[in-house]
Amino acid sequence: MNKYDYLIVGTGLFGSLFAYKAIQAGKKVLVIDKRRHIGGNLYTEEIEGINVHKYGAHIFHTSNKTVWDFVNSIVEFNRFTNSPIANYKGKLYNLPFNMNTFYSLWGTKTPEEAKLKIEKQIKAANISNPKNLEEQAISLVGKDIYEILIKGYTEKQWGRKATDVPAFIIKRIPVRFTFDNNYFNDKYQGIPIGGYTNFIKKLLSGADVRCNIDYIQNKAELVGYADKIVYTGPIDEYFNYCFGELEYRSLRFEEEILDIPDFQGNAVVNYTEAEVPYTRIIEHKHFEFGTQKKTVISKEYSLDWKEGAEPYYPINDEKNNRLYQKYKVLSEKEKNVLFGGRLAEYKYYDMHQIVEKVLNINEF
Ligand code: FAD
Repeated sequence: MNKYDYLIVGTGLFGSLFAYKAIQAGKKVLVIDKRRHIGGNLYTEEIEGINVHKYGAHIFHTSNKTVWDFVNSIVEFNRFTNSPIANYKGKLYNLPFNMNTFYSLWGTKTPEEAKLKIEKQIKAANISNPKNLEEQAISLVGKDIYEILIKGYTEKQWGRKATDVPAFIIKRIPVRFTFDNNYFNDKYQGIPIGGYTNFIKKLLSGADVRCNIDYIQNKAELVGYADKIVYTGPIDEYFNYCFGELEYRSLRFEEEILDIPDFQGNAVVNYTEAEVPYTRIIEHKHFEFGTQKKTVISKEYSLDWKEGAEPYYPINDEKNNRLYQKYKVLSEKEKNVLFGGRLAEYKYYDMHQIVEKVLNINEF
């Protein structure tokens, strides 16, 4: 292989954006991924003409005009607005918590009525020093919203009782006293027309790309290919887990192709009761206003992570953050390696944050 300026490990959003910037600066880049496809967790696969979000629903949102203009300069984004629905024991509620939700819960018709209802419940609970997530949530929004819309969902997400989850996990619970089902407060949101894989493909055009190559397993050979390395894989794996493993929550998806045009009339429906084992159902065609004859749905299950499973959400508690800091110190000693992205920085990033970060890297 030729000598490259950069070897980029990972074709996810971080790696692909870095590749784009490097190419724009006239650099030669090789981008590798251990998966069989490009895109990292943004990867979408076309099934029955529908772009299926294979690693969970991804909605791009930002208030940063530079970020929005940049992504739209790569591919045009549509006007999708995330307005999830909650299904609790067969009854539907709008999310995020807003006047429509309160009307379904209590029949309240004005902000004043709804505020009064919530305040009354918070007062009745009389919690001044919440000891766990349950108490924290009730002290913020009262018993009804907690029990119907938060409890079961959170317990499935964390795999334990809400009374065993620390209070700090929920700092605030956004409540809106307008009839507005738009989940995000950001100025801009949407989905890349043609799917995320198309977006990533455009970012990578001009780069040499190889899938099915694991950097860790082929490190001895690969380091010689480039002057500098950009590493977006797990930081603990890079250092051979010398201090121990960082922990994650994982997910599992059950995908079904249905011979009907529409299953649930919405992209995202959360199941908030504990008895339904999955947390939500995604119907992918609605991200792009699809009119196909069939539909594809994914049931999303939240899981404990063990080696071999996909690491999805870092568990940024004290123990794991301390462990990460030890790896970070080692990473700072690695000359010519830039560690970036959610796995290398052990941090949950939304997509717009990754874009902002990479656009601001002063490398070239
Ligand atoms: P990744 O996408 O994980 O890319 C890292 C890549 O490195 C992977 O392709 C991996 O295979 C590769 N790799 C790892 N190790 C090696 C190795 N040893 N050798 C070769 N390759 C390797 N953000 C939003 O803004 N909106 C959303 O709606 C949203 N929804 C989300 C839903 C879920 C379920 C999850 C988990 C995240 C969501 N995000 C969302 C966040 C979004 O996924 C991240 O911001 C983004 O994926 C981060 O990109 P990345 O490049 O850092 O990581």
